[in-house]
Amino acid sequence: MQTRLAEFIRDSVEGREAEAILRKCVHCGFCTATCPTYQVLGDDLDSPRGRIYLIKRVLEGAEVTGKTRLHLDRCLTCRACETTCPSGVRYGHLVDIGRAVVEARTRRPLLERLRRAALAFGLPRRWLFGPALGVARVLGLQLQARPAAAWPEARHRRKMLVLAGCVQPSLAPSINAAAARVLDRIGISLIEVPGAGCCGALRFHLNYQDEGRDDMRALIDAWWPLVERGEVEAIVMSASGCGVTVKEYGHLLAQDPRYAAKAARISAMTKDLCEVLDPGLGGKGKGTVAFQSPCTLQHGQQLRGKVERLLQAAGYSLTPVDDAHLCCGSAGTNSLLQPETANELRARKLGALQAGAPQWIATANIGCLSHLQGATQTPVRHWIELIDAAQA
Ligand code: SF4
Ligand code: SF4
Repeated sequence: MQTRLAEFIRDSVEGREAEAILRKCVHCGFCTATCPTYQVLGDDLDSPRGRIYLIKRVLEGAEVTGKTRLHLDRCLTCRACETTCPSGVRYGHLVDIGRAVVEARTRRPLLERLRRAALAFGLPRRWLFGPALGVARVLGLQLQARPAAAWPEARHRRKMLVLAGCVQPSLAPSINAAAARVLDRIGISLIEVPGAGCCGALRFHLNYQDEGRDDMRALIDAWWPLVERGEVEAIVMSASGCGVTVKEYGHLLAQDPRYAAKAARISAMTKDLCEVLDPGLGGKGKGTVAFQSPCTLQHGQQLRGKVERLLQAAGYSLTPVDDAHLCCGSAGTNSLLQPETANELRARKLGALQAGAPQWIATANIGCLSHLQGATQTPVRHWIELIDAAQA
């Protein structure tokens, strides 16, 4: 696609990156077929091709309106379009650049600003989110949490870091504890660093990009002493939404002279939990599971089929799931900010997941887990909890 970027961005790092991405797009529209928001809303401006066109116009200096912002807000950043695109268009990087410009050039209505500011402030702060969740439970809101259970002693020579994250310790501390037990059985001690907080994804994707990068730097600082001393061989992610972000630290902090090298090293050491386990687990007759592969796992990290093989090796039978490439609607804070689309996508996803009447639904991301569990009686678990239960 031919572009003539406006002066305000042409000679910047972002401008050059955006131009290179835009040039790759041939406007073929293959990506529209796999875009969840296009499927629900049916508007070309809510498809990847339409959004790419909008971003191109913005970067060429066209007027930016609230409508432009709305179409970018509605994007789930699921990156299904990247998986589909035959030309290798890095839509995720382009939309980050486009969103930053649109945010700076428009003004949201007051209530919307307050809402987004409250989410950006509250969600990444464990000390605030945990008590708030407790109050919500007292008030009878349907927010369940599972207890953590035992975390084994760090007794092995082989050690890996695991990210506690921001919302997961309050909603499901059981996930990392299960991961620690499964890895302990294969001779790896999993350790959490106190003070390691949010990966930055929440604030970054709420368009508080500078604040999101602050969270990234703070997390690097918390991990760095262990990484520098060579005490851990990998950084393990039990939430694919955090994993996809930490794997991009090298890119997201590339222009920060103090953190670029550290960020690249952290990204290189980061693995999803399914990348550190071997399918040779052995097991039979453990029950039936429908696996919901989060977008951040299958599109963002391009990891497909690994969790399914691990569940099968542990003894679970997988029930078929149609349209497995489509987002469940959770998408970070999207379920709170765009509830109509999010609820429609969730209803479709649950229909597909429950078609084979599984005993459990398994997923790989806390956001998807909470979102799906909010509308089904079928228990939704992180897949590592099912592996742990199968081994116990
Ligand atoms: S992003 Fe890829 S699939 Fe979509 S219109 Fe552009 S070239 Fe075609
Ligand atoms: S990231 Fe997802 S929602 Fe956004 S344009 Fe691509 S396919 Fe559509």
